[in-house]
Amino acid sequence: MPSEIWLHRCCAASPPTSSFPICPHCGSMGTYQALKLSLVEKMCAYAVRFGLKPVGLHRPFADQIMLPLVERCPRCHGVGVLGMPGTRSVRCPVCDMGCSIPKVSDEEFQLARQTVITCYPKAATPGWRPLSERTGGRKVM
Ligand SMILES: [Zn+2]
Ligand SMILES: [Zn+2]
Repeated sequence: MPSEIWLHRCCAASPPTSSFPICPHCGSMGTYQALKLSLVEKMCAYAVRFGLKPVGLHRPFADQIMLPLVERCPRCHGVGVLGMPGTRSVRCPVCDMGCSIPKVSDEEFQLARQTVITCYPKAATPGWRPLSERTGGRKVM
């Protein structure tokens, strides 16, 4: 589950952000800032985004090739999920929780992914489909 990020400007002693609305130090209410994916969810997002495993020897190479091909999802602002405080968060319908969306054509994106897989055959996540197939066409909101 993604956690909420709350900003606490009340106390210098307490960390400025936490996943709780109430400041653990003085008990005053913080300001809701955003949702944040857990580390595991961030790793899932990487796999969703690129169809590549988030961990492995291929990562530096894959990042070099794949990262320039995507941009931050305009709908969820790169968070991957949508939600307001106290409500259940939902998977972002634009990036499908990938946090970023391709800014190149499907063909170009697939070609780059294939380049990574050719060099590192174990990097592929099986059964991955391009974002446009998963979300039924490119939607930018
Ligand atoms: Zn406080
Ligand atoms: Zn999104």
